[in-house]
Amino acid sequence: MNIKLKPCPFCGGSVELHKHKPGRFTPEGWSVGHWCDGYVMSSFCSGATVEEAAARWNQRIDTRWISAKEKKPTGEEGDWVLGVATGQAANLALVDAEALVSYDEEADEWYLTDVPDTTVHVSWWMPLPEPPELPELPEEETK
Ligand SMILES: [Zn+2]
Repeated sequence: MNIKLKPCPFCGGSVELHKHKPGRFTPEGWSVGHWCDGYVMSSFCSGATVEEAAARWNQRIDTRWISAKEKKPTGEEGDWVLGVATGQAANLALVDAEALVSYDEEADEWYLTDVPDTTVHVSWWMPLPEPPELPELPEEETK
């Protein structure tokens, strides 16, 4: 079983999967969480299976800014991330502006979306949330 769990959203500590027995208020299943500094169980997600509990835990959006000096996007975050960018793009000057950016590991450069070949300096970044599940559109009738 190789399931990756996001860290605790409060203290950043690592979390664990626990199997729990049926109780007065919960059916048998699995839960994700941990004791922040040994005091209180932090965010707690459950499911009937390990996969279900892990998927619920991991669906939360990580909204913390990551220092670009300390860590760059690996590609696991998708092609684009939200960055705090500074630079010149065509006739647009960015100064610590929030913008969609992409990091090229080989070139060690940050690129600005929608402006081809424009590199910018990025000080902070964060992954974008997953897009929403959109309802299927009805098929158009052909006449
Ligand atoms: Zn914690």
